[in-house]
Amino acid sequence: MPNPTLYDMTLADLEVLIRDWGMPAFRARQIYRQLYINLVDNPVMMTDLPFSLRGRLATEIALGGLRLVRTQVADGGITRKALFALPDGAVIETVLMIYPDRATVCISTQAGCAMGCVFCATGTLGLLRNLSAGEMVEQALWASRELRRWQAAGGEVPSLADFRDDGARWWADAPAPVRQLSRISNIVFMGMGEPFANYDHWWAAVQRLHDPQGFNMGARSMTVSTVGLVSGIRRLAGEGLPINLAISLHAPDDALRSTLIPINDRFPIADLLAVTREYTARTGRRVSFEYVLLQGRNDYPHQALALAKLLRGHTAEGADRGVPLLCHVNLIPWNPVPGSPLGRSERLRVAAFQQVLVDYGVACTVRVERGAEIAAACGQLAGAN
Ligand code: SAH
Ligand code: SF4
Repeated sequence: MPNPTLYDMTLADLEVLIRDWGMPAFRARQIYRQLYINLVDNPVMMTDLPFSLRGRLATEIALGGLRLVRTQVADGGITRKALFALPDGAVIETVLMIYPDRATVCISTQAGCAMGCVFCATGTLGLLRNLSAGEMVEQALWASRELRRWQAAGGEVPSLADFRDDGARWWADAPAPVRQLSRISNIVFMGMGEPFANYDHWWAAVQRLHDPQGFNMGARSMTVSTVGLVSGIRRLAGEGLPINLAISLHAPDDALRSTLIPINDRFPIADLLAVTREYTARTGRRVSFEYVLLQGRNDYPHQALALAKLLRGHTAEGADRGVPLLCHVNLIPWNPVPGSPLGRSERLRVAAFQQVLVDYGVACTVRVERGAEIAAACGQLAGAN
């Protein structure tokens, strides 16, 4: 792990540091406000601090650890991807997506990933290392500043009409449109890496971003996606913050799921659904299941039916209907990964798959793709091209 930076510190940590430096605690609160409310990225700009303190901050502790290598834009400017170098040389990516009513940042939680899912570009890298909480927090702050810069440069929030074509479905879930997009409204932990394989740092980042004295991101506006680590789901169920949970399912049976997601051998579907039921019972919150559609692999109507039955709580024998899971399915047409033999399901197959689920009473939406031309879409982040 690199040396802690200011972004690795809670307000309480900052107060300790400032007291050690022989200054009153309110200075720590000023710094915290500068970092998380004013989004200042250079201590010299913290003009409400004494000159000497600014100098000390600038010389004695790093503000952050990410070095911006490159920004790429797509979709007419409303998808923006940053490539960052870490102090030890690994690279990670962060994606900002601007919508008519909201702006979402997709954050990486690890450099690379150990899970090796066959359809995912990050999975081909292997795990390089876990990110610190500060390195996750810093990605959200980059996105906030990037949104401001984009707006200052005349960037316009797209209108609803631009999205009407394929946006109708996700639109239904969206909050009421805001007139002025002044800040990041949603955070998704769906970038590179498996958040629950780096749980402690990830949770520290969630708490920091949620802190009402600082960045103040609502818990319900944050979503974590997991490949299905049972222990992580159980832990999240016991946390005090109602953040959203998405689970990568991708197949209705273990034989198929294990060919796509190797970790399924350790946490098979029955265990995953059992802990999901624990989670929904304990929290009262609906989960979403992500399902990447791969042409000719997991996108047949009979597989949609098997999935629907699973989620409606059928018993293994398939005869009785049990208790339906409190859930929603998010279909993700696969985004191509260079060199992969897999294929993206055609539109009609996606629509047919969705229809089977809906007819069976399972709520289901199709995720709208963003940033494919700059390899910023789901599962394309690998820190290359
Ligand atoms: N490790 C976590 C979160 C990061 S991946 C997880 O696996 O859930 C975020 C989502 O993108 C997951 O649902 C993942 O299965 C999906 N994904 C990975 N590769 C993809 C690809 N090439 N096309 C579309 N979705 C992909
Ligand atoms: Fe890791 Fe998620 Fe990619 Fe699987 S899909 S390799 S868990 S980042």
